[in-house]
Amino acid sequence: MMPPAHPFDDDKLKEECGVFGVIGTQDASNFVALGLHALQHRGQEAGGIVSYDAELGFQSARRFGYVRDNFTSQKIMETLPGSLAIGHVRYSTSGNKGQTAIRDVQPFFGEFAMGGAAIAHNGNITNANALRRELIERGSIFQSSSDSECIIHLMARSLQRNIPERMEDALRRVEGAFSIVAMTRTKLIGVRDPLGVRPLVLGRVGDGWALSSETCALDIIGAEFVREIEPGEMVVITDKGVESLFPFRRVAPRFCIFEHVYFSRPDSILGGRSVYETREAIGRELAKEAPVDADLVCPVPDSGTPAAIGFSLQSGIPYAMGIIRNQYMGRTFIEPTEQIRNMGVRLKLNVNRALIRGKRVILVDDSVVRGTTSRKIKEMILDAGAAEVHFRIASPPTAWPCFYGVDTPQREKLLAATMSEDEMRAHLGVDSLKFISLDGLYRAVGEAKGRNNACPQYCDACFSGEYPVKPSDMLEKGFEMKAAE
Ligand code: SF4
Repeated sequence: MMPPAHPFDDDKLKEECGVFGVIGTQDASNFVALGLHALQHRGQEAGGIVSYDAELGFQSARRFGYVRDNFTSQKIMETLPGSLAIGHVRYSTSGNKGQTAIRDVQPFFGEFAMGGAAIAHNGNITNANALRRELIERGSIFQSSSDSECIIHLMARSLQRNIPERMEDALRRVEGAFSIVAMTRTKLIGVRDPLGVRPLVLGRVGDGWALSSETCALDIIGAEFVREIEPGEMVVITDKGVESLFPFRRVAPRFCIFEHVYFSRPDSILGGRSVYETREAIGRELAKEAPVDADLVCPVPDSGTPAAIGFSLQSGIPYAMGIIRNQYMGRTFIEPTEQIRNMGVRLKLNVNRALIRGKRVILVDDSVVRGTTSRKIKEMILDAGAAEVHFRIASPPTAWPCFYGVDTPQREKLLAATMSEDEMRAHLGVDSLKFISLDGLYRAVGEAKGRNNACPQYCDACFSGEYPVKPSDMLEKGFEMKAAE
């Protein structure tokens, strides 16, 4: 079993998973390992790679921990030969959260009458419990606690002739969010759910092709970014090229707006826009919406940095690195003692006292989830002698859980679910607290007129409580949706 998630990182929404695949290059698994390394921010608990070699067939390696600690070993990489490979990095958003067993680590593999197939899934299936019950009643034997395994069993039961058609068949039964990279002996397959909640992009690497959750992972292998896979699109890639299919009923897309705020890496391109530039634009909007007289703008590193730069540029208030992050924290203290645990956020972040003393400080962070870290950071800043502390948050209040592949605490644990903005300000003990508005966030991601309330352009359910796909499993467990206004 994997050790529990890092105790000092429990106040952020956790990215879901990252997927990567390559076809048509020698030693494809080496490219996949590098791609997964670049996607490590999307999941640090475990990773896996499946490759196909004409002589040896399908080979797989699944390990706990970082990609760099496993898939750099020559011994492991030699077991993954071939010109076709896919991989997955995982943070558990389904199955046994924080208690990953190796059988839950993807890619999953299934042997069908027409040959084997492996799949790696990013997202969350919102009707997985119902599907699992039905499949078990009909004789399926599940190996893992992951919702993604349903797809393999649905494929096994399909009567279609080939694997891409079986996959289409299976995915038509699935509700929720999925960006999938899959492979057969000769094909690399990429699919995005009809709403396109999670990202997936196509790249060209030499004479071959790559599929990736984000463009930053194409850069690391020297692949050229070709385009995003469209919402509802399935691409089937062989040595003859890329075939594009649209097997699902077309609906208006609802990409996850939080990818722009926090999940994706700032050096990735999303929806034709640089993530870094979008975050800077969020900071500018925030400065327009919630100005404050102060001496310094400081980011809560690292994710608050581009928004803090944007805030500083817009407001004219100098930017400073008032908080320094210890880059080597990682999982150093897997089993911290009580004494170390009490040091909490100080192990990860340290205040640059010389800069802060006597200053009125604006702290820019990407989000407030439970608020526990924000409180500690405020204390550290005041201890260092700051005259005032003002929080500016680059997302609207996170008041609802995500059911589409992001790990969020239960609704009652979200600070914004139980308190008004003013109550949160008093709870955090800061001089002022302001969040960007939903419209301001939409403007920053390029929607000049803001949010179209009749047909929102993005998924923003964790802010608005308006879920684009009914979370059936959670409703069954008693989750209460927001009442219609
Ligand atoms: S609920 Fe929030 S985090 Fe989840 S997909 Fe929607 S916008 Fe993204």
